[in-house]
Formats: sequence, C-alpha cells, structure tokens
Amino acid sequence: MTETRNNQPLGGNEMPRFAGLATMMRLPHASNAKDLDVCFVGVPFDIGTSNRPGARLGPRQIRAESCLIRPYNMATRAAPFDSFQVADIGDVAINTFDLQKSISIIEHAYDEILRQNCVPLTMGGDHTITLPILRSIYKRHGPVGIVHVDAHADTNDHMFGEPIAHGTPFRRAIEEGLIEPTRMVQIGLRASGYAADDFDWPRSQGVRVVQAEACWYQSLKPLMAEVRDQLGAGPVYLTFDIDGLDPAYAPGTGTPEIGGLSVHQGLEIIRGCRGLELVGADLVEVAPAYDTSGNTSLLAANLLFEMLCVLPNVEYRS
Ligand code: MN
Ligand code: MN
Repeated sequence: MTETRNNQPLGGNEMPRFAGLATMMRLPHASNAKDLDVCFVGVPFDIGTSNRPGARLGPRQIRAESCLIRPYNMATRAAPFDSFQVADIGDVAINTFDLQKSISIIEHAYDEILRQNCVPLTMGGDHTITLPILRSIYKRHGPVGIVHVDAHADTNDHMFGEPIAHGTPFRRAIEEGLIEPTRMVQIGLRASGYAADDFDWPRSQGVRVVQAEACWYQSLKPLMAEVRDQLGAGPVYLTFDIDGLDPAYAPGTGTPEIGGLSVHQGLEIIRGCRGLELVGADLVEVAPAYDTSGNTSLLAANLLFEMLCVLPNVEYRS
C-alpha cells in the first residue's frame, strides 16, 4: 500500500489510550468540514426529551469511550481511514435555553457541513436533532430513504402540545416531504403505547415497521437484504436511537424499553446498510448519567465507527 496522507486515529503506541484530547476516535480536531470527506460532529441537545434528561452529555462521553477503537474493522475488512479524510469538528453551539432557536442553529450548521461535500456522522443529543438535520439534507439531496432503529416510532403529532420534540421528528419530516415514506424502515419498535395508531400511522404512510418481537431470536441479515431492496438507489439517511437496543446493553438512555434488540443485531443492521447510498447518519439518545459502567457510550462509539465503515466507496481489504 502507498503511504496515506489522510488523518489517522492517534495510535496507542504514540500516546496512551487514556491520555490526550478526547476527540472521537482520537482523530484530529478540525474547526469546520472544509476538505473533509466525513466528519464526526456532536449535537449536545436534550431539551426535547420527555422523560429522563441527559443526552446533552452524550457527545462528550461517546468521545471519551471511543479511545479504544482502532482504525481497521477486523470483521468486515473496512479500512475507512485509508478511504476518507475524517476529523472531529466538535459540537454545534446550540442554545440550550431555546428549542426553536437550537433547531435553526442545527440546520444552519449542517448546511455548512454539506456545502463542503462532507458526510456528517452525528453524536446526539436527543432525537429531536434529526429533524433539522433532515431539513438540511433535503436542501442538498432531496427527499431521502431512512433506516431508523428505535424502540419508538417518533411519529407523535404533538408532545404536551408541542410540534417539535424527541417523539415527533419523523411525523414532521414525512409531513414536510423530507422523507420518501416508501423508502423508510423502522426497526425495533416495541413496548406500551397510547393506541395502535402509534405504529400504524407510519404504516399508513407506506413506512415498513418491523417491531422488536419480529426480530427476537434471529439474525437480521435477511431483513437487511429486504431493506436494501426496498430502499434501492437514491440517498439514504441512517438514524440510530440507542434505545432500539435492549437496556441490558444500553441502560444509559432517557426512555428505556424492555425486550429490545441485541448488540449483534445492531451491528447486523449497520453492516447491512453497506451498498446503500448513505448521505449521513446519527447515533442519538445516549444519556451517560444512567450508565455507571460507560458501556452505553462505548457501544455508541463503536456503532458510529461501524457507520463510517459502510459509507459509499469505503475501501475493503481483500
Ligand atoms: Mn427516537
Ligand atoms: Mn427511542
């Protein structure tokens, strides 16, 4: 191989893994997305949460727990840092006292990232943030297909009378035409609701809803083959709410639900996105305060690495 000029994660033989600045994967920090193919970006926003708060601390803790991740994917043979110029561009400067202003700030921050032809991999933050991200992506790519992992549909019409909160982003996104509903799948939905309509509304829009029970005890590789057929060609956004996984694996989140997906299934979903035209992805709802071991953030950091490993044109070593 020729020597690469791309940024590389700082190796454990150059600086102890527990030392140095806590950027995502110990990558260099960049002040913006200029000249980057892919960026990691944090959105420390949790004023759209309905139950336990704390996802504002997700980006910082995910970065801290990412320090052990090495650059090469032993399972899939992906070598993303040979393929892409990647950096951590820090956090979006949201206004934590004002939800509406923050929504606008996030949208404009992503406009700047996308203007640089850079693919954003986002560390949330609660799921509200996906709405302004999709608004920005729409301006660049038009309506997108969606792979959505979550315990919840997040298609409420309102929460406490508010149209924008962490349980409404996909209702608003479908209404605004940001998503092609027939190119959307929701995986891992479960638990108690207000009425059957909670999951039937997205179905009525053409979304494929795969409830958690349909995933129990099995590999999700066959499902993902169907998802790739369903979504086909065209831009796709991957949005991964950590509460889609079982709270046994990911307790550090605000609205945990029992009976969720396993870590292995989460990996199969992300690895199964290989071949889709991904234009961005996020990992949301990590709330470290409810997770004394750090495992939820460790998991989130690794899932973000796996997302990087399935972006279009990533190089796979034979
Ligand atoms: Mn969600
Ligand atoms: Mn959720």
